[in-house]
Amino acid sequence: MNAPEIYPVPPGFAARAHVDAAAYERLYRSSIDDPDAFWRGQAAFIDWLQPFTQVSDTRFDPDDLRIRWFADGTLNASVNCVDRHLPAKAAQPAILWEGDRAGESRTVSWGELADRVNRLANVLKGLGVGKGDVVTIYLPVIPEVFVAMMACVRIGAVHSVVFSGFSSESLENRIADAGAKVLITADEGLRGGRVVPLKHNADRAVATQPSIRHVVVVRRTGAEVPFSPGRDLWYDEAVAAAEPWCEPVEVGAEDPLFILYTSGSTGKPKGLVHTTGGYLVHAGTSWRIIFDWHEGDVFWCTADVGWVTAHTYKIYGPLLNGATSVLFEGVPTWPDSSRWWSIIERHRVSIFYTAPTALRALMREGEGPVAKHDLSSLRVLGSVGEPINPEAWRWYHAVIGGGRCPIVDTYWQTETGAVLLVPIPGAIPNKPGMAAKPYFGIRPAVVDAQGQVLDGPGEGNMCFAGSWPGQARTILHDHERFVRTYFAPYPGYFFTGDGVRRDGDGYYRISGRVDDVINVSGHRLGTVELESAISSHPAVAESAVVGYPHEVKGHGVFAYVTLKEGFAESDELRREIVAWVRERIGPIASPDIVQWAPALPKNRAGKILRRILTKVAANDFQDFGDTSTVAEPGVVDDIVHRRRQELAGSN
Ligand code: ATP
Ligand code: MG
Repeated sequence: MNAPEIYPVPPGFAARAHVDAAAYERLYRSSIDDPDAFWRGQAAFIDWLQPFTQVSDTRFDPDDLRIRWFADGTLNASVNCVDRHLPAKAAQPAILWEGDRAGESRTVSWGELADRVNRLANVLKGLGVGKGDVVTIYLPVIPEVFVAMMACVRIGAVHSVVFSGFSSESLENRIADAGAKVLITADEGLRGGRVVPLKHNADRAVATQPSIRHVVVVRRTGAEVPFSPGRDLWYDEAVAAAEPWCEPVEVGAEDPLFILYTSGSTGKPKGLVHTTGGYLVHAGTSWRIIFDWHEGDVFWCTADVGWVTAHTYKIYGPLLNGATSVLFEGVPTWPDSSRWWSIIERHRVSIFYTAPTALRALMREGEGPVAKHDLSSLRVLGSVGEPINPEAWRWYHAVIGGGRCPIVDTYWQTETGAVLLVPIPGAIPNKPGMAAKPYFGIRPAVVDAQGQVLDGPGEGNMCFAGSWPGQARTILHDHERFVRTYFAPYPGYFFTGDGVRRDGDGYYRISGRVDDVINVSGHRLGTVELESAISSHPAVAESAVVGYPHEVKGHGVFAYVTLKEGFAESDELRREIVAWVRERIGPIASPDIVQWAPALPKNRAGKILRRILTKVAANDFQDFGDTSTVAEPGVVDDIVHRRRQELAGSN
């Protein structure tokens, strides 16, 4: 592969940034030499009720795992996220909400947010919710999500947010796993002009779940929905009748803050448990640094509230810092594909954070929808969720960022709670597709299959040595699985499940899930590199590569390819794509099979489900395992149908 290009920190950016190159070097070094001293300093960002005496008590030993941070400190999350901003900002906007329908919007001030949080906290208390109880939140992307989460943590309850695009079965499973006492939902949701029957789904889920004693219903559309008196209550009526002050409950740093299920790219979602003190320290301080937020910035993270990205960097990060953020209920392509860009223009968004999958979809539409809007307010761009292919990176940089905005490619997971690898924008020059350098206090390790830690450039398993405050403490009800999955494979290290390559400058590039590595004639090929090469072909919108059993090579390379608008499927184009990859990566990587796919199966977080594509590539069309996270089941059927046709045609 050609050496990746380098984009220096934009002129003038570093001078104003929280962290410039020299500060990064100095701070990183000291954070590794004495992590406790570093994190003690960061912890001053939080208003503690009882200060902690010990910073960390951690050991990555699978036989005796310990992850404890600031353990004897006490605090309340909602006081840190809301109350402490009131003296200066009560009348200023906390949330700039844009509804699914263009033209429908709402501004929520810090004062209004605080009022709703206190009242809802009192409502929950009245329903018997107390410290340690779980409340499941199944809401559209509306300000009441912030209110609901903050109301829970005000009384020491634990929130479990479930993506509102999930079915009643998915909701039911997550309620059952968490043993939730109360469910907060809405009459209906709106997404891309379509109605989502939330209360209907909620009723079906709750019917089998005796742990749920009450359902609080937000009126979003005002539709008539079934209502069970005694069990159900309307949010607006309950909040209006509640007392406007609720005393915040003091909790320990290691008391749980929330449960969150992973997006399920690789199988059954895991319910990760995050605790209060360490998570808030890591979320609040890293958000400010990695997005280089300053007073006056308008922040927008497009992730759905059901994902960790939203928990840490759309909700907790901005709230802890008293930042104004945009909240958008809809989808980027409705009513047309300029919707996001019109919102950026309207609110003068300066920091924008999204996922590569959405960027690729918008790239397919060309520059027209972008050109209609003034995006000159943008200063910093972010990416998360999967490795960003260089083609999409360049488009993001040039077309959305006008060539002037650094891109922070944030590598982390539900399990890690907050960022681990990131090019801090005032400090680290960008290399497209690389999550670049470790965040403060984070010690990456590239570990080979034998468990040897590599020095210098090389490829291997993405592991981390030593704990960090934001990391999850366990999988709910399954601590054994937590230890086995993350700490047993390479004792002494946290294993992410991802592959990585480190270059000569010490930059890291995630190469995909380790389980997805394709072994062609003894050569290990990462799916991300192959897909990036295919997707750089001018006719290609998106691709997914998997291995399939091959008599000679062990694994063959099977590429599913989605074409851009205006390109037709043909055998000639197949040959061209194969030659293109051969030229860019080498003959060993040439796809053996190119299969056209008008759409790729993704989970609800927009991530490609290679697990399913691998089965289809092996001509195994049955039993796709847990498919509860597949966003559009029709896409799988279509791919199976096309594969069967190809097979029939080739006989
Ligand atoms: P599951 O664990 O249930 O299969 P998931 O891993 O998709 O689901 P998340 O925790 O939301 O659920 O995603 C974390 C994963 O996303 C990482 O392990 C990594 O594979 C990928 N990822 C996230 N951000 C980046 C990034 N900036 N660069 C590369 N990969 C990323
Ligand atoms: Mg994962």
